Amino acid sequence: MSNTIKGGEFVIKETSYNDIFIPEEFDEEAKMIRQTCIDFLDTEVLNKLDRIDAQEEGLMPSLMDKAGALGMLGVSIPEEYGGFGKNFNTSMLVADAVGGGFSFAVALSAHTGIGTLPILYYGNADQKAKYIPKLATGEWKASYCLTEPNSGSDANSGRTSAKLNAAGTHYVINGQKMWITNGGFADIFIVFAKIDDDKNLSAFIVEKDFGGISMNPEEHKLGIKGSSTRQVFFNDCEVPVENMLSERENGFKIAVNILNIGRIKLGAATIGSSRMVITQAVKYANERVQFNLPISKFGAIRYKLAEMATRLFATESAAYRAGQNIDDAYETLVSGGMDEAKAKLKSVEQFAIECAIIKVWCSEMLDYVVDEGVQIYGGMGYSAEAPMERAYRDSRINRIFEGTNEVNRLLVVDMLLKRAMKGEIDLMGPATAVASELLAIPDFGQEDETAFAAEKKIIANLKKAGLLIAGAAVQKLMMSLSKEQEILMNIADVIGYVYIAESALLRAEKLYHTKGPEASADATDMAKIYLYSTIDKVNVAAKEALNSFAEGDELKMMLVGLRRFTKSEPFNVKDARQRIAKKLIDANKYCF
Ligand SMILES: Cc1cc2nc3c(=O)[nH]c(=O)nc-3n(C[C@H](O)[C@H](O)[C@H](O)COP(=O)(O)OP(=O)(O)OC[C@H]3O[C@@H](n4cnc5c(N)ncnc54)[C@H](O)[C@@H]3O)c2cc1C
Repeated sequence: MSNTIKGGEFVIKETSYNDIFIPEEFDEEAKMIRQTCIDFLDTEVLNKLDRIDAQEEGLMPSLMDKAGALGMLGVSIPEEYGGFGKNFNTSMLVADAVGGGFSFAVALSAHTGIGTLPILYYGNADQKAKYIPKLATGEWKASYCLTEPNSGSDANSGRTSAKLNAAGTHYVINGQKMWITNGGFADIFIVFAKIDDDKNLSAFIVEKDFGGISMNPEEHKLGIKGSSTRQVFFNDCEVPVENMLSERENGFKIAVNILNIGRIKLGAATIGSSRMVITQAVKYANERVQFNLPISKFGAIRYKLAEMATRLFATESAAYRAGQNIDDAYETLVSGGMDEAKAKLKSVEQFAIECAIIKVWCSEMLDYVVDEGVQIYGGMGYSAEAPMERAYRDSRINRIFEGTNEVNRLLVVDMLLKRAMKGEIDLMGPATAVASELLAIPDFGQEDETAFAAEKKIIANLKKAGLLIAGAAVQKLMMSLSKEQEILMNIADVIGYVYIAESALLRAEKLYHTKGPEASADATDMAKIYLYSTIDKVNVAAKEALNSFAEGDELKMMLVGLRRFTKSEPFNVKDARQRIAKKLIDANKYCF
């Protein structure tokens, strides 16, 4: 897929359905890997959820060992270090398949992601040779220590210190880390600390056996109760100098780049959880009888089922589209001569805007799905005897870790504007073109009646709405825009909704052209349902932004333009939702 556009460029450019990957295209090998993970959850995890949540001594580490023995911890680790060396999108598929594993999924993803990847991507040959094979099998389990009591979203402000000892052989680490996933059983801690009066963090590989490490008891949490979460204290912990990762003061960059990967993988994990929750909700709706009818006969319930499936379908389309973009960028970089580990990071960094969008929209999608799941179960939704209660509680963390959703929304706009300033993305050209279009007479030219033409026009217009508010906000507010967070949130919402809606539409279009109109009818319905609700959301967000910084005739003109960009022919979403609900109800599971 060589014609793919650069990261973030979707804001100004159109993508062809030929240039995106859709999950229906996974090959047999990838599907087999997915099935192995699903079978593992069924046989080893889902039958032990209460024991896992009670943090039964040794249970989680033993599950990790078993997962390691099956190769589940080494999917994206190169073969030379004992892994399978699979591409990025296959590792997304694993995160998706394991995503329905509640606390186990969190432990596994912290180990394979933020725990292992700093060494894999920033470690030198000796560090990789020493640690990666043991992490790939699960013999050693990893955690990631960035957050501190006074340093959360502002991650570079940590106070943990690292001082070189007099002999110059060891860094002596002192400080307190908080909310450390896998802390209770980890053998390896990736620790971020500041050397002397450095401005930026440095990163270290710390083995538990180095000594000088103590912990508070397990945190009592709202959800993911089976996931070990500890405060970790470093008291004169002596770390050999050769255990510094990369270079001095490169730690913050490591933290940020590893979090980019964590974000999109978190998105993939919410897809797996949502699929499971929707299946349970459909089954319950088919079984539960009220007023002499299964509740799945009621329009109010059918609406929920269809909407849950639609939001899952749309966000899933975006996650695997971006996953493939990352794989393609990697191939291009490697064939241009870049070192493989560097290319892995660079390719993800190029799509960091998409990673942040996927983190936010997927975590909010899962929260919607579990919330409606509880509602469909009624009183039983509130009972710990039924599955929705745990799903509801466990979902909530996803909007907080790997960068809160507020921080990620801010990042989406910040990264886009920075790329525009650096000349990497031509934002101002298209934004100026949109501003002049406001003054021109609308084009009432011939309607294009080919499949998806109308929807593609809507997407193009929604992008113009985004450019209208972003361009006007930059022009009006200039340097103070970075402090106007409400407006930045509005811009992020427009960009995010458009990306997800476009991804769903491209997937439906690809299915239409490869499988035919009938086989793609459900995808088309879901893409349209999502798109039509996106139009209204874009309208509200853009209007709020414009009303806040423009006035008089200029405001009126921009609002007229916005109306034009958010105009559409009527579409009967009720009937489309009914069709989707019927498919789910007949299949008695999530079936798309
Ligand atoms: C269960 C759990 C597991 C975790 N696992 C790990 C782990 O393994 N390793 C690790 O290092 N960390 C971990 N974390 C920490 C997690 O990443 C942080 O909680 C998260 O980054 C938010 O930091 P904070 O809790 O200090 O919240 P704060 O940063 O204090 O944020 C509080 C609120 O203010 C908002 N806010 C903050 N800054 C801004 C801003 N500039 N503009 C607008 N709004 C803002 C936030 O969005 C949030 O709504 C974990 C946390 C939990 C709860």
